[in-house]
Amino acid sequence: MPQISTLQSLIAGRWIGNEAATPLRSALNNSLIYNTHAERIDFDEAVTYARKTGVPGLMKLDFQQRAARLKALALYLASRKEELYAISHLTGATRADSWVDIEGGTGTLFAYASMGSRELPSSNVLHEGLAIALGKNGGFAGTHILVPRGGLAVHINAFNFPIWGLLEKFAPSFLAAMPCIGKPATATSYLTEAVVRMIHESGLLPEGALQLVIGGTGDLLDRLGGADVVTFTGSADTAAKLRVNRNLIANSVPFTAEADSLNCAILAPDVSADDPEFDLFVKEVAREMTGKAGQKCTAIRRVIVPEHMVDAVGTRLRERLAKISVGDPSVEGVRMGALASKDQQRDVAERLALLASGNEVLFGERDGFKPVGDGVSDGSFFAPTLLLCRDGMRNDAVHDIEAFGPVSTIISYNGIDEALALAARGKGSLVSTLVTKEPAIAAYAVPMAAASHGRVLILEREASVDSTGHGSPLPQLKHGGPGRAGGGEELGGIRAVRHFLQRAAVQGSPTMLAAVTGEYVRGAKVQESEVHPFRKHFEDLKMGDSLLTHRRTVSEADIVNFGGVSGDYFYMHFDDIAAKDTQFGQRIAHGYFVLSAAAGLFVSPAPGPVLANYGLDNLRFITPVAIGDTIRARLTCKRKVDRNRTDDKGVGQGVVAWDVQITNQRDELVASYDILTLVMKRS
Ligand code: NDP
Repeated sequence: MPQISTLQSLIAGRWIGNEAATPLRSALNNSLIYNTHAERIDFDEAVTYARKTGVPGLMKLDFQQRAARLKALALYLASRKEELYAISHLTGATRADSWVDIEGGTGTLFAYASMGSRELPSSNVLHEGLAIALGKNGGFAGTHILVPRGGLAVHINAFNFPIWGLLEKFAPSFLAAMPCIGKPATATSYLTEAVVRMIHESGLLPEGALQLVIGGTGDLLDRLGGADVVTFTGSADTAAKLRVNRNLIANSVPFTAEADSLNCAILAPDVSADDPEFDLFVKEVAREMTGKAGQKCTAIRRVIVPEHMVDAVGTRLRERLAKISVGDPSVEGVRMGALASKDQQRDVAERLALLASGNEVLFGERDGFKPVGDGVSDGSFFAPTLLLCRDGMRNDAVHDIEAFGPVSTIISYNGIDEALALAARGKGSLVSTLVTKEPAIAAYAVPMAAASHGRVLILEREASVDSTGHGSPLPQLKHGGPGRAGGGEELGGIRAVRHFLQRAAVQGSPTMLAAVTGEYVRGAKVQESEVHPFRKHFEDLKMGDSLLTHRRTVSEADIVNFGGVSGDYFYMHFDDIAAKDTQFGQRIAHGYFVLSAAAGLFVSPAPGPVLANYGLDNLRFITPVAIGDTIRARLTCKRKVDRNRTDDKGVGQGVVAWDVQITNQRDELVASYDILTLVMKRS
């Protein structure tokens, strides 16, 4: 008998566990592959370690440095991905299923590293501007900041994506400087243990940034406080139980849930069987039913189809499902693997029985289901099963019972309003797909579907070329749905990082707000010196370094010349008669001339540390500039972000945003904007 290894928890920097407890079995043939450990975890030690070692270690780094660590970690894990694939197949996953888990996981780390480096400051205070004046004299203002909470994040995950599930929660919370305790579902915890071991071996994270719990959470939730957070993915029942934990309620510990969801796809009434959209619809449904053997929180469970298309959809889906070979994914040609465990196999069978009563089975076990591969008769395989419900408005089961496997139900409808009403019967879902050729149908249906679905995919021939599919949550887009789907939000770009930070309103003088936020706030004190700010290297520049330029009177020749250079002969600049009839009552200068003239006023032309101007934000033209007006500009260093980058020649550079205010002879603000530049470092 080969030695079955015992999984270990990573607590307070030590791997714990030698004595076997719960046996874990291969989804492919039910053989014993691992055991959980019997040793009890001291959760007081885990929480104390996160607070005392994890938090300070993470806070020694700033947002940019943590983003750089995430990228290094993503590269490291990507270099060892084949070791993970070798374990992943034991969960019953095909290579394609494992790709979603493994490379979807590292891809999420890459995405958060990149978004963090683009959007977060090189400090630990995230300014949620703009500051707003709170008095008439300009001396008092208010703004919002987001700061690390100083607590830890407990991430509880479902069994279906043991790697992605951890990493998609870990990445934003790590950026937010929260040490994490990951708790994977026991059934597939061996894969999470493998990836956490790699992370530990990489040595890339500060001590205490990640701990792992194999087995139960004991009294962990009872030990959390107001600075901590809990995120959960799994069944609605467990979510309901955990969110009412007395300690979490007593201490207002945020609890974010992502629970089971009866997602749907709607075939709109405008699509006929000859349209490419019809094929797209059928393909998407078949893919969602069989990908990961239907064990995806986003899988399409309800296939909402116009009454007159039910037969056509049923026939085409049956044909597709019949071609899908099920079995051991290592066998050539196998497209669908097994459910994660025997427990899941039993659970899905029970739920299918409930769904089948009162509905027709269009395709299922009786249609030649025979998994291929050695020993698969003991595996956790399940036949792709398609049901038909002809009275979806009266049948509750199809909207309530989630069979977490390759099981979907076609539900017929009459008119788009009924389709939308059926979709909403899921009481809140993660995602719905609408397949239509008609923008007007999308414009009508999507706002209604959006009220009860966290994400809506509109699929037609144009989108199909690049569509990432119904079932794929993306790091850039929000994942999570209302109601039954848990009511939580994950991912969605940097907003996921914000979820793990604490927001505070701050009031004070603009000078104080600038000091706190690390960002120049209009009205704050500035520093002026003989040295032009564009002649300073990144290290020497200080927020608030400012230049008030000389003046320039705008002439008619400027307007004529600018019209000639740009080809912009808009009547407002060239037609005296028409311009008199406008709200300005006279010809005015081009806004882009004013911008260009301001650049001419503030630029220091000789080569210097400013390497490039790569954009402009928040541009507003506030007061028109007429012939004879005199303008000047104030350029102020607004924000510095050190991305720890060098160019091809190894020269370091940082990002500097400049506040520009252009005023006229009456000191009225004419235009304002931020310029984004790259500035060379001295070193
Ligand atoms: P569960 O809700 O049973 O478990 C989810 C996670 O919660 C697991 O890590 C589990 O650990 C943990 N857990 C369970 N009870 C407690 C507790 N009292 N205290 C702390 N942690 C606890 O879901 P499953 O993973 O077993 O999946 C079951 C169902 O969940 C599926 O059939 C499906 O309906 C739904 N699901 C939804 C998903 C989604 O993303 N929306 C994804 C996957 C599943 P342990 O395994 O050790 O019990």
